[in-house]
Amino acid sequence: MLSAFSIFMLGALFCVVPLLVLSSLLRSGIPGIREWSAASVIGIAAYVLYAYGRALPPFLAYEAANTVYAVAGAAVLAGFRRFVGRNVPWILLGVGLASHTIAIALFHYRFDSYVLRTVTVAVFQGAVCLAIALAVLQSRRSWRSRYPYVFTAAIALVVALGHLIRCLVYMKNSGEISSLLQPSPWNLVFVSAGTTVIPVLILGGVMMAHDRMMAKAEHAANRDFLTGAWSRRAFFEFAEREVQRAQRAGRKLSLLVFDVDHFKSINDTYGHAAGDRVLADIGGRAAAVVRNIDYFARIGGEEFAVLLPEADRAAGLIVAERLRAALHRAEAHGNEKAGTIPPMAYSVSIGVATLEASESLAELMHRADAALYEAKAAGRNTVIWAPQIKEACA
Ligand code: GH3
Ligand code: MG
Ligand code: MG
Repeated sequence: MLSAFSIFMLGALFCVVPLLVLSSLLRSGIPGIREWSAASVIGIAAYVLYAYGRALPPFLAYEAANTVYAVAGAAVLAGFRRFVGRNVPWILLGVGLASHTIAIALFHYRFDSYVLRTVTVAVFQGAVCLAIALAVLQSRRSWRSRYPYVFTAAIALVVALGHLIRCLVYMKNSGEISSLLQPSPWNLVFVSAGTTVIPVLILGGVMMAHDRMMAKAEHAANRDFLTGAWSRRAFFEFAEREVQRAQRAGRKLSLLVFDVDHFKSINDTYGHAAGDRVLADIGGRAAAVVRNIDYFARIGGEEFAVLLPEADRAAGLIVAERLRAALHRAEAHGNEKAGTIPPMAYSVSIGVATLEASESLAELMHRADAALYEAKAAGRNTVIWAPQIKEACA
């Protein structure tokens, strides 16, 4: 049968695994990785101190071992708080740690009680686990997939519950259990489960970090870096799906295609970097005008498209006109020194088309492009509606 010593030494080894994985993520710049790495190292120290408890001076076996373990728990929590973009409550953690260590010393030197020391550790570690579960669950909006977050929150809650059960069991059997290294069945069950807590929680953190890296990679692949709009590739994938869906369900769908007026002369007069600032400005303004379900994309150098699901001719024209007005910067504006707002005037021309029965995306695009061409010919800074196919043929 395994002894408490070997279980603690296995716990120390378990902590080496996340440490190795985390070292490969250190350069990712994801917040929390450093705290989790520190927690693994501190966790190793805590488990070794627990394992050698009988051979060490009592101060190291009781106060030091439990405090080092508490610091490891606090570091895991700090990592999760940093990962989800929240501040780390250092003062609260410090006060909690100090109270925990004072209580351990009290229940060691003054009222020697293994059960009360266990309760002290359980209160601190249980609170840490609840705080981890809360931080993870509150970050819902940034989840890309559910599994890593639900896994971590569930483990944290189970561990908190485990601490509670351990307190109840030890209180009930207080006469029989007197030391952490005692090979009683209950002790071995809790010690075995306890030694996996730090590595398993950090494993949840590693999965969350991986999920975030995937989200970043997807964002980089699907978004245009300069304007924040969807990329051309992502747009056509999405638009193809939406056109098919609208045709199947007989629903309306409109498409706007717009292009910056005289953009070449903006570049020529103010320089390419200023041209880029116009494009970035357009990205910000257009995103504020379109609805959540609309799909705003940069489909060429200074050409953009907005797909409007559920929008008929009237709705398409309203959005187009709103967009034209929002992107008509009539005069030099903004603070050039701030470097974000383009200092020169600019405008856009827009072509609008609404999907017709059995029309393909390519045909819809072609009609919107033709309307855009007309808008340019009509003097620019204007919206032109693409004639329906029947009208055009007549
Ligand atoms: P029109 O009103 O007819 O659209 O005239 P225009 O000058 O905008 O049209 P044209 O197609 O001749 O010029 C487009 C210019 O856009 C040419 C190209 O150098 C510039 N351009 C394309 N991509 C970028 C970019 O990412 N940044 C910058 N600054 N310029 C770009
Ligand atoms: Mg163009
Ligand atoms: Mg242009």
